Amino acid sequence: MSDSRRTLKSRESPTVMQPNSSEVGAHQAGNGLSLTIQPELLTRTPAGATGDSVIPETSDEVRVPILSSEPSGGGGGASSRRSRASSRTSSHSHSHGGGHQHSHSEPSETDPADADLESGEPSTSFSELRYLFRWVQKSLPFIIILGAKLVIQHALGLVVGVGLFTTFLYANKNIQTQVFLQDRRSKIECVWLLLFLASSTLLLYYTFLTESLYYCLIFLSPAVEPLGFWEVLWAVGVTNFMLKFFFMGFKCLILLLPSNLVTFRAQGRWYMLIEEVGQVYQSVAPIPLWFRYLITYQEVDGNTGLTLGVLLALVYFILKLLGLYGQWGSFQKTVRLFLSGEHTGAAATRSQCSEAGDICPICQAEYRNPRALLCQHIFCDECIALWFNREKTCPLCRTAITDKVHKWRDGATTPYLQIY
Ligand SMILES: [Zn+2]
Ligand SMILES: [Zn+2]
Repeated sequence: MSDSRRTLKSRESPTVMQPNSSEVGAHQAGNGLSLTIQPELLTRTPAGATGDSVIPETSDEVRVPILSSEPSGGGGGASSRRSRASSRTSSHSHSHGGGHQHSHSEPSETDPADADLESGEPSTSFSELRYLFRWVQKSLPFIIILGAKLVIQHALGLVVGVGLFTTFLYANKNIQTQVFLQDRRSKIECVWLLLFLASSTLLLYYTFLTESLYYCLIFLSPAVEPLGFWEVLWAVGVTNFMLKFFFMGFKCLILLLPSNLVTFRAQGRWYMLIEEVGQVYQSVAPIPLWFRYLITYQEVDGNTGLTLGVLLALVYFILKLLGLYGQWGSFQKTVRLFLSGEHTGAAATRSQCSEAGDICPICQAEYRNPRALLCQHIFCDECIALWFNREKTCPLCRTAITDKVHKWRDGATTPYLQIY
């Protein structure tokens, strides 16, 4: 069958290509084309042998228009030949829907082009991320080993840190509870908290007496040599907790004051002021330590080490100053609030009070310095001021009165660990 087809083709091709013989280049191209086509025909013939006898005839019909289009197409370059060949394969696949070899070759030709179009930024970054993830996954055991070594090396520091944090949480929660209880607060509990904080501070400084960490409280360097990264972190962390304890002790002292000397409302203002001063102090305290750490350099680093150190220290100092400038604004506002002791709502008249029944809904007693809120509900000045230490709305009708709760008046201390 294949032999008969080849003879048929050789008999036909001269008659078809005769018009092209006027142009030499086109003639050669035509020959080249017939050569490239022949393997395709050969591969196709087994399918044709099993299939219908009509198929070879249609394939010949397809071949004729392509060859006749040669003169109009111009010089037969390699690229044009390839495009023609591809167009021919596509025409083949159209004529034989069932031809497996051709229908498979077509997607393989288009696939790389599609991949080039689709491969953009997101896919590459995703693959990089996946690569990083695989690296982490692979080296996880070694990271764990190094982490364990680090924990063992700094076991004492970590234990002390956890202990300090637990102490802080316990004292902070209890001080807030005592402030909330007001009249029902227990003086014994307050004394216990004060002693607890004082003994914790003394115990820590006594344990690390040789390091003289208390120098950090007054902006001096501790007796730790050499002052490496972990040493600075340790000193700064301990100092931060000690300052928190110190200002919490102050709050305990306020708690111990009799309420007829300082009203609960004024006590709230004191807590606020103490906390604000404490936060400013906490953010200033680590400056000398980090400054010294950044500016120190090894002898081997030479002048570049010194220059870089000074540069880094300056950048740190500027950032710190910017932060302190922001804090200064809030500090001024707090001091103004502390001195003025602003009131909520307007003073209520006697008739307003009698209309409301002459009984304060909060303390269930006669009004003392009655104040009328925007919603016309009337409370004692003291009662409503204490209410707004925690809430933003009227206790009766839930009308929004203030846009923000006055911070730190409930005796709370910030849990934020200032380590830089
Ligand atoms: Zn009241
Ligand atoms: Zn109301």
